[in-house]
Amino acid sequence: MEIACLDLEGVLVPEIWIDFADKTGINELRATTRDIPDYDVLMTQRLQILDKHKLGLEDIREVISSMSPLPGARGFIDWLRERFQVVILSDTFYEFSQPLMAQLGFPTLLCHHLEADETGKIVNYKIRLKDHKRKSVIAFHGLNYRVIAAGDSYNDTSMLGEADAGILFKAPDNVIREFPQFPAISEYDDLKQEFIRASNRHLSIDNN
Ligand SMILES: [Mg+2]
Repeated sequence: MEIACLDLEGVLVPEIWIDFADKTGINELRATTRDIPDYDVLMTQRLQILDKHKLGLEDIREVISSMSPLPGARGFIDWLRERFQVVILSDTFYEFSQPLMAQLGFPTLLCHHLEADETGKIVNYKIRLKDHKRKSVIAFHGLNYRVIAAGDSYNDTSMLGEADAGILFKAPDNVIREFPQFPAISEYDDLKQEFIRASNRHLSIDNN
């Protein structure tokens, strides 16, 4: 049996923090690990900014409800779920991703948690497990699943390397250059083809 593991941001939905910064007009929320490499420093800063702008969990959910998955993402994930057991492995937080997951039909998501107090203010973040994408693939192998994985960035490459087949999807040029061992594509139709190619079953695009 086979499991398809997908990254979320950049593959099925936009980068959530960047879209959130655009929607709220809070530019300082656009910082990513490329600007502030220490993730703890970055997240602490993000929570401080949310607090400064008095944005609690409900406000955040409302803003994120106005975001949409990438065009074609819903059709792709529906197609994939008819043919594979699908698990989304993401470094986002359940509280952030929930409104977007609703638009994707709530596929299984393994990610991290934000902690809010009784007023809805976000007070902490909980990384469930470090390097959890790769560790999930190892665990699925332990359960005797073959794993085909797709992602777009550096935080996916250990997952792609651990999987039986790894695919770069909508990856930036520098990631494609650094990881030539993975096929790199950018359209959902091509991603379907890659999953069919990587599968050890006889699947087709049109019927399962
Ligand atoms: Mg990503």
